[in-house]
Amino acid sequence: MKLHEYQSKQIFAKYGVPIPKGRVAATAIEAGEIAAELGGRVVIKSQVLVGGRGKAGGIRLAKNPRETEELAAQILSMEIKGLPVRKVLIDEAAQIDKEIYFGITNDRAARKPVMMASAAGGVDIEEVARVTPEKIIKVHIDPLLGLHDYQTWDIAAGIDLPRDHWRAFGQIAHGLWNAYVACDATLAEINPLVITADNRLLGVDGKMVIDDNALFRHPDLVEMRDLDVEAPSEIEARKYGLTYIKLDGNIGCMVNGAGLAMTTMDIIKLFGGEPANFLDIGGGASADKVSAALRIILSDPSVKAVLLNVFGGITRGDEVARGILSALNDVKTGVPMVIRLVGTNAEEGRQILADAEMITAETLVQAAQKAVAAAKTN
Ligand code: GDP
Ligand code: MN
Repeated sequence: MKLHEYQSKQIFAKYGVPIPKGRVAATAIEAGEIAAELGGRVVIKSQVLVGGRGKAGGIRLAKNPRETEELAAQILSMEIKGLPVRKVLIDEAAQIDKEIYFGITNDRAARKPVMMASAAGGVDIEEVARVTPEKIIKVHIDPLLGLHDYQTWDIAAGIDLPRDHWRAFGQIAHGLWNAYVACDATLAEINPLVITADNRLLGVDGKMVIDDNALFRHPDLVEMRDLDVEAPSEIEARKYGLTYIKLDGNIGCMVNGAGLAMTTMDIIKLFGGEPANFLDIGGGASADKVSAALRIILSDPSVKAVLLNVFGGITRGDEVARGILSALNDVKTGVPMVIRLVGTNAEEGRQILADAEMITAETLVQAAQKAVAAAKTN
């Protein structure tokens, strides 16, 4: 789960990272009021969960509250990389002498978090990473030992940070590391960390990504989730307790059990097809859940055929069949459905489906072949 800049910076501040004074606004008028409170020049920053807002015109400087209001109105009516801007952060404008990149992420290959910094920070850091990766200093952190002071000095020296900033930099490094650990983050990033004209270090931009698998122990972070940026189908799936991941192919899959779902995807590929999604309806799926699952699969316009592979253990075949029919009642579709149903009450289920003129299959191989063929001709 990605956090917005203002949320990330608030967390960083709690851990001792200096950030500009500021507040978030949902309307231009509010933005103007915040600018008046802050006094002086402000920066108006679109809060959208994509990078490169600056280059897209989503970050503007304003001299006074009136100008803030005007620019905030403009930014609040923008879409950046397809995402609507619903909030703007109004921060005291920083006078920037130098922009540093500073971040922590997991290095899976090293099986450790890695702290990274670069003197070439700011909006072109991706380009720096691609063209001159040696300009990015990396230090691995042993998760059991934590961050040591000497490591922060190594980084400070590596980016040629003037000596008088080392103490402040060390505090920021520890703050970022503590925030990263405490929030179960997979990314904590300050880009840019700036040296201001009056010679202070200041975190001007912030970004955090939280490990979804750890969200159960962070109810406060879950509340920060921005539903605007998630695919509506994935939000809907979560509501029904379905595990749904959209993929690039054209054969929709509805399966019970993650292992069986993966097997089904493999077999589709074996016969030359491409799955459009991973979807696990789980055990004991009710007609309701099946119906929701089917609606979600069919909401993807690239789906040309659907393969339902249900092994009835706890999940009863007749329940599944009724769910399919009720879903097809809601969502009228011409997309062919291939159904393989085995296990508890499979007979009853198959009968219900046969009466409704659906394509049934005895084995998974047959089902996959039929689905691939149906997707090709549809
Ligand atoms: P991003 O484009 O989404 O990464 O947004 P940032 O918050 O990093 O802002 C992009 C760029 O705008 C920064 O690298 C700075 O050059 C500039 N910028 C951001 N905030 C300020 C500010 O307070 N004052 C000044 N002068 N420039 C800023
Ligand atoms: Mn940035």
